[in-house]
Amino acid sequence: MPSAPTPARASEFDLIRRHFTRPTRHTDLAVGDDAALLRARPGMQLAVSTDMLVSGTHFFADTDPEDLGWKTLAVNVSDLAAMGAEPRWAFLALALPRADEAWIAAFAHGLFACADTHGIDLAGGDTTRGPLTLSVTILGEVPQGAAITRAGGRAGDELWVSGQPGMAALGLATLKGEIELAAAGRAACIAALQRPQPRVALGRALRGLASAMLDVSDGLLGDLGHILECSATGAIVDIGALPLDALLEAGADAALAKRCVLGGGDDYELLFAAPAARRADIESLSRALGIPLHRIGALTAEPGVLQLRERDGRLVPGARSGYDHFG
Ligand code: ADP
Ligand code: MG
Repeated sequence: MPSAPTPARASEFDLIRRHFTRPTRHTDLAVGDDAALLRARPGMQLAVSTDMLVSGTHFFADTDPEDLGWKTLAVNVSDLAAMGAEPRWAFLALALPRADEAWIAAFAHGLFACADTHGIDLAGGDTTRGPLTLSVTILGEVPQGAAITRAGGRAGDELWVSGQPGMAALGLATLKGEIELAAAGRAACIAALQRPQPRVALGRALRGLASAMLDVSDGLLGDLGHILECSATGAIVDIGALPLDALLEAGADAALAKRCVLGGGDDYELLFAAPAARRADIESLSRALGIPLHRIGALTAEPGVLQLRERDGRLVPGARSGYDHFG
């Protein structure tokens, strides 16, 4: 399809060549032709995912473009990590209000920093004028049949979450001026929001261990709801087992810390279920990778029923407070 007429049609190609064309690792033909040619390895299934970030909805218009470049790719990498897949190729669709070359250069710099961290080739994309919108389609590989879906959870499986969910929500609240944190805590929370570190190595290592998995993008309880639906189970989450310490140290009070861990989005930690018999394997994996893994509950036999176990042992209904763009 022809692009909308733009006086700067030639400079569009210049921009793509200057900022989005880099040597590739596993691509026979990348940016510059009508389609890319990807060199997929035999025995692998392709895992493919798309995520879109819209200015004003997913990020503030004045967000540092380098951070935005990182995050645009990182949130897509996280989706592949959550399948146990290895990211390999990305396609970038960009709508830009104007050709601000400094902005584009910084954005590309952040994006390629994330691409290089994970060995991803930018293999193509599309660039057009419009309200600032960033969309990535990512492709990765996973050995045939080894992907970890949301659907494999069974009653009795234990529930785990990686790292520190809640930090990004605290970072967002800080940026909005809703809370005040001490300098160190503030910096750590804003970094969690703007430079999420997708858990690719962990996702991959959980092949054959985790029965169901997803990445927490919209809040732990809300995203857990997707596992319950797909796996036709319920769950009990132990309030006493939630990792709150880092949030308390950052300066949150206990109630806010709990809300951020259970409902905060944007952390891109992995939430997974695994048979109780694999507990020791998961603990040793945590040590080997140097990533904290918290056992926060278990799946139950009542489909769709989400409960919280309070510190005194009482079971209360869990509200699925995930972020819903149309809710
Ligand atoms: P076509 O009109 O054939 O779709 P385009 O002008 O849209 O071609 O793109 C030219 C080439 O540049 C294609 O190979 C496309 O994949 C690549 N491309 C366009 N925009 C981007 C971008 N933002 N990032 C990476 N590659 C891009
Ligand atoms: Mg095009």
